[in-house]
Amino acid sequence: MPRTLSPHTLSDTSPILRVALPSPLRRLFDYLPAPSAPACGWQPGVRVQVPFGRREVIGVVIALAEKSELPRAQLRAVSEALDDAPLPADWLWLCRFTARYYQHSLGDTLAHAMPARLRQGHPMAGRTQTLWQRSPTAPAAPAFGRATRQAELWALLGQHPHGLPGRAISAHGFNHDTLTRLAQKGLIEARDITLTAPASPSGHLLAAPALPLNREQAAVLSALHEKLENFHPCLIEGVTGSGKTEVYLQLIEAVATKGKQSLVLVPEIGLTPQTLARFRRRFNVPVLALHSGLTDPERLDVWEAAANGRALIIIGTRSAIFTPLANPGVIIVDEEHDGSYKQQDGLRYHARDLAVARAHHHQIPVVLGSATPSLESLQRGLDGTYRHLHLTQRASRHPPAKLELTDLRHQRRQGGLLPSAINAIKHTLKAGKQVLIFINRRGFAPTLACHACGWMAECGACDARMTLHRQPPLLACHHCDSRRALPDACPDCGSGDLRALGAGTERTEETLQGLFPDTTVYRIDRDSTRRKDSFEQIIKEIQRGEPCLLVGTQMLAKGHHLPHVTLVVVINADGGLYSADFRALEHSAQLLEQVAGRAGRAADPGRVLVQTLHPDDPHLTQLAEHGYGALARDLLKERRIAQLPPFSFMALLRVESPQVDAATTLAQEAAHYLHEWIYTQQSPVRCLGPVPAPMERRQNRYHLHVILSANKRSQLHQAASVLVQWLELSRDARRVRWSLDIDPQSL
Ligand code: ADP
Ligand code: ZN
Ligand code: ZN
Repeated sequence: MPRTLSPHTLSDTSPILRVALPSPLRRLFDYLPAPSAPACGWQPGVRVQVPFGRREVIGVVIALAEKSELPRAQLRAVSEALDDAPLPADWLWLCRFTARYYQHSLGDTLAHAMPARLRQGHPMAGRTQTLWQRSPTAPAAPAFGRATRQAELWALLGQHPHGLPGRAISAHGFNHDTLTRLAQKGLIEARDITLTAPASPSGHLLAAPALPLNREQAAVLSALHEKLENFHPCLIEGVTGSGKTEVYLQLIEAVATKGKQSLVLVPEIGLTPQTLARFRRRFNVPVLALHSGLTDPERLDVWEAAANGRALIIIGTRSAIFTPLANPGVIIVDEEHDGSYKQQDGLRYHARDLAVARAHHHQIPVVLGSATPSLESLQRGLDGTYRHLHLTQRASRHPPAKLELTDLRHQRRQGGLLPSAINAIKHTLKAGKQVLIFINRRGFAPTLACHACGWMAECGACDARMTLHRQPPLLACHHCDSRRALPDACPDCGSGDLRALGAGTERTEETLQGLFPDTTVYRIDRDSTRRKDSFEQIIKEIQRGEPCLLVGTQMLAKGHHLPHVTLVVVINADGGLYSADFRALEHSAQLLEQVAGRAGRAADPGRVLVQTLHPDDPHLTQLAEHGYGALARDLLKERRIAQLPPFSFMALLRVESPQVDAATTLAQEAAHYLHEWIYTQQSPVRCLGPVPAPMERRQNRYHLHVILSANKRSQLHQAASVLVQWLELSRDARRVRWSLDIDPQSL
């Protein structure tokens, strides 16, 4: 049988489509056009279904070319175009930027950045709605006999000459059957309309009046107002409770008044119903939220509403940075230092950094806000790259509480608590207030130990101890999630004297419940809040204001407004003090300051007790006496001397394999290749490693690192791209898992 449309009949004049496919390979794939072109013609941004090996996959046309490296006869044709209009251009730009910056495959990046529905090949709905109306050819008064429901629906549609959507019809109590009967009789018909809701709100933009700003807030807002039409990167360094959110709200108001869109990023832990409610109370226009609770169709809906400009205010966590914007006005990144903005696997992007790049592309302002800015952003504020704005006073007028360091050495503890802390808790409860006890470890105790021989419960798959849990009783590894029953006796020496070592949230909860039997103790960690909503329920109860004790991990430390907490106790501040990771100190100082910020947010001043084995540590005393801002500036000086970020740029090659030899071989070869390249190119890039990862064995896989650093970003990127090209061709790289992390946040 003759083929009507063989590749040859498409001849030499048809363009070659260069398509990005969801594959880790950092290249495009060439195809011939499908027989029927999309309505917009072949152009970049159109999704296509293509044959790939023996499967069909969905990709995106990236470019049109006249020639391919392969002869035309060897190219396969696209099976089908899936869109009649290209995906949004700003989104496509962002994906291409992201893939290039993070040295990731473009096809993977696109797949990651688009809603699941589009990834699966569903159409972009284009927001059409089906309306039912009387058919123009129907008689004026048809006879319905005993079909009274049909007669009633006919009458209803008579009252709505422009038609009614199906949902409104069923809301009137009609079922689908009645509708189809009338349609089959040709009395009514369906009509599709495109929804074009007004971009500017009808009536008032505000549902609730803005708060009158204090002098500092007003100064910050007017600085932001100065340049709404340009790229204007700003860092707001504002103590917790200083009214940053109020400033964001009024900035968004100004932007929305011009009919432009605001994209607000919040940390994973920060997108609470409280936060959302606060935004929604203020505005009369919909505030669309992108969070993990959305269904796939809902997510696509938000995406499209943003892409066509109907949505003026979009708020979401990390991945919301990939929301297309028809009319971008501002991007706001709240708690910009938060670790959840960095994706830790696959496409390892940083949403805050992409926000700045995106704002530059759109030539709009970007606002980074934090009480504890990252050293990266702070340095740019200090050197003038970003406009540096300050909020030093709390709206409640109480200055944030100072940290009081208390010495853990040589002292008896109960459930991790010093006698002085227990005393302070007693007084606070007596005064009718609430106490937050912060402990960064869930479970009953960090491990189980034999008192006779020193044996400790270790994970069989990781270089780590297993955590003792009591509810339910078991040993669990927090790195690989493996579980074991509690042993009755020591597996090494048979002694029955097994003891819990140290304290976790469960143990502190138990101790406090014993000490204060008449007080409610809420434990808030990943185990106690597994059920959806339970966290929100607890927060609601706490906000009622009864005196109570809250024992929690960092879930509690951030974001929540806990107005009745006047005492915060930090069980142990030492986690980040002597870590091998150069960022550990920065991150633990941020966490301590954020925890401390929970105390005394409302009318009453607060107290923060910080227990430590190192009360004389210079970093800790600096934090306690002068706050995060002072410590951060000291840390910047140290980083500058050590040529660490933000004074240099880093990339981290991670290599992992169940076979230690395979991982080591590849890491060594990669490092060797880099050293050669650096030598022959006389490149100033530094290469360190391979070194074992801080936890070398995790989930029975061996992890090794090779670290690249350079004083200029362009130098680093050149080396990184050479490395990736080498890895893609290396035979040994196929036997192990590897990934390149640009600007790694932890080593
Ligand atoms: P941040 O985002 O800096 O932590 P918020 O914006 O949440 O601070 O403000 C903290 C508290 O102060 C909130 O209860 C808020 O309603 C209140 N607040 C903020 N600005 C003002 C203001 N100008 N006048 C009165 N109260 C304010
Ligand atoms: Zn033993
Ligand atoms: Zn483990």
